[in-house]
Amino acid sequence: MQTNLSKQARQLPRAAEAEKVLRSCVHCGFCNATCPTYQLLGDELDGPRGRIYLMKEMLEGAPITAATQTHLDRCLSCRNCESTCPSGVEYHTLLDIGRDFIEQQVPRPLGERLLRSGLRAVVPHPGLFAALTRAGQVLRPWLPGSLQVKLPRTARPAGVRPAIRHPRRMLILEGCVQPGLSPNTNAAAARVLDQLSISLISAPQAGCCGAVDFHMNAQETGLDRARRNIDAWWPALEAGAEAIIQTASGCGAFVKEYGQLLQNDPHYAVKAQRVSELTRDLVQVLQSAELGTLSLNHDLRLAFHCPCTLQHAQKLGGAVEAVLMRLGFSLTTVPDGHLCCGSAGTYSLTQPGLSQQLRDNRLNALESGRPQVIVTANIGCQMHLDGAGRTPVRHWIEIIDEALASYKEQSHA
Ligand code: SF4
Ligand code: SF4
Repeated sequence: MQTNLSKQARQLPRAAEAEKVLRSCVHCGFCNATCPTYQLLGDELDGPRGRIYLMKEMLEGAPITAATQTHLDRCLSCRNCESTCPSGVEYHTLLDIGRDFIEQQVPRPLGERLLRSGLRAVVPHPGLFAALTRAGQVLRPWLPGSLQVKLPRTARPAGVRPAIRHPRRMLILEGCVQPGLSPNTNAAAARVLDQLSISLISAPQAGCCGAVDFHMNAQETGLDRARRNIDAWWPALEAGAEAIIQTASGCGAFVKEYGQLLQNDPHYAVKAQRVSELTRDLVQVLQSAELGTLSLNHDLRLAFHCPCTLQHAQKLGGAVEAVLMRLGFSLTTVPDGHLCCGSAGTYSLTQPGLSQQLRDNRLNALESGRPQVIVTANIGCQMHLDGAGRTPVRHWIEIIDEALASYKEQSHA
């Protein structure tokens, strides 16, 4: 598409990136076919092609309105459109730039500002978030239904983490909400990797990956969190840690972008690039691990919900399913597995109506093969789907961890 950025837009630090994305779109509209919000709303401006057009107009100097902001707010950042686009348009890069641009110019109503600043004040802080989760569980019967569904149905304790005993070491990002909502996930990952002679280590100074702030248009705060994590991980990487493991695909997708997002930072560009290159979703370790002839012979019927951040952002669709099947689990067929569940970071709170429709549609598809458990790879999706109170939803690594433990028990008996 021909573009002619306005004088104001040309001053943006990422103007060249915006221009490149806009020029790569040929306006064919193939992407609309797989866009969840376009499917629900049927409005061209709630699909990727329309949003690209709105951002083009905005960056070329057209008046900016609250309506444009609403269409951009409704986007899930699921990146399904990127998987579909035949021209390789990096939609999410343009969306980040466009959302930041509009945020500076269109004031939000008070309620929205309070909700957004409240979320940013709580979500990225693991200690505060965990304390509020515990308080919420005690007070659950007295909370409104909209908050009850955000709390874990069953708080599974973490269990024992193995001692750090192997020469092969990998860092793990503990995450911000996961330790409070599903403390067993990272502990299970540590136990499974311990069986593969890999010790998981943490960097205590590392914290939230920065995605929450960044995607709520506090982009500089999000990047500061990225810089802090890079500083926290660097000594361990210099000491030989092989990788930085993410058990939440949302965090992994963002950390893999540190290199691109900090490419113009003279102090962090090189380190950020290295951190991104060394970042792995947990499944990538198991994909390449020697699982031998181990067959867990499990009779549990599973359905896998592949998070958008795993399949569309990290391009790892099919990876978890392949590992589970290699280990002997049976997986049900899930129709329209490319679609978003409506969790999308804080979307379930900022766009509750759309989010709930997407969740119900996804659960109908996931349950169509009558699984006993749904497994997924991102804490946001896990809590969002589980909150419906239907089929239980867990992280896939917990299922492997439990099967390994019972396999070991049986072989010692
Ligand atoms: S983003 Fe890709 S699929 Fe969508 S209109 Fe542009 S070129 Fe076509
Ligand atoms: S990121 Fe998802 S919701 Fe947003 S335009 Fe692309 S497909 Fe649609």
